[in-house]
Amino acid sequence: MEGKAVYMKRMPVVFIGHGSPMNAIEENEFSAQWEAFGPMLPRPQAILSVSAHWFTPGTKVMSSPAPKMIYDMYGFPDELYQVVYQASGSPNLASITKDLIGGNTVLDDTWGYDHGTWSVLRRMYSEADIPVFQLSVDMNTSTEEHYQIGVKLRALREQGVLILGSGNIVHNLARVNWGMEGGYPWAEEFDAYIKSNILDRNHGNIIDFEQAGPSSSLAFTSLDHFAPLLYVLGASDENDQVSIFSDTCVLGSISMTSYLFD
Ligand code: ZN
Repeated sequence: MEGKAVYMKRMPVVFIGHGSPMNAIEENEFSAQWEAFGPMLPRPQAILSVSAHWFTPGTKVMSSPAPKMIYDMYGFPDELYQVVYQASGSPNLASITKDLIGGNTVLDDTWGYDHGTWSVLRRMYSEADIPVFQLSVDMNTSTEEHYQIGVKLRALREQGVLILGSGNIVHNLARVNWGMEGGYPWAEEFDAYIKSNILDRNHGNIIDFEQAGPSSSLAFTSLDHFAPLLYVLGASDENDQVSIFSDTCVLGSISMTSYLFD
C-alpha cells in the first residue's frame, strides 16, 4: 500500500491594485476580476496580506487568532462600514513570519484587517474560510529593505502561504480627478516603466524607481501603496511566470495594474 504523501503546492505571489474602498461593495470590472481570480489559484493554507494601510514605524506581524475589523476610510456610504470579513488569524504562521524577517520585527495586535485586505479578500475568498494575517509596511525604511523583507518571505510559499501585496503602483490622491476615466500621461508612463521592468525582471530599476524620471515624483508622495509591490517582487523568483491583470489607470492618478507570479 502506498503511503499518503504530504504534498503542498508552492504558492504563487500576488500584487493587487486595490484602488477605491468602494471596490469592496460595488460591482465593477475590478471586483469581477477579483472574484474570478481567487478560485483560479491553488487553495492556500493561509494568506499573508502586506497592506498599504498598515503603515507603521518598524515591521509588525498580526498574530491574533481572530483579528478585528478596521474601517480606515472616511466619508463613504454606511454599507461599507458594515462589511465584516470574519477570517481567523494564524498565530503560528505569524510567529514563523516574525522569525523569518528577524531584526526588530514584532508581533502586534493593535491593528486588524484594514480595507487594503478585506476589500480584495471578500471578493477573492468570499467564504472567509482561509486564515489571514497581515504584515505592516515599515514607514522608516528604504525601498531596498522592503524588497529584502520580501526575499525573506519567499520561504512561506513552500508552506502553503499566499503572499498578497495590496497597494497601488500609482497612487496620488491629491491629483485624483473623479471625472477622468484613464490615467494622466505621467501615471500611464510610470505604470509602463514598472511593467517593463517587472517583465524583464530588472528589479533594481524598481527599487530605484526615481530612474523612471519626472513621472516618479508624481506617481506617489508616500511609499505606503508602492511598497507592497516590493515585498511581492522580493518573494518572487526567476522560475515564476508573470501574468498581468486589471492593467489600467483610473481617476487620473491611480493605477489598478496587478500582477501574479506563479
Ligand atoms: Zn489604499
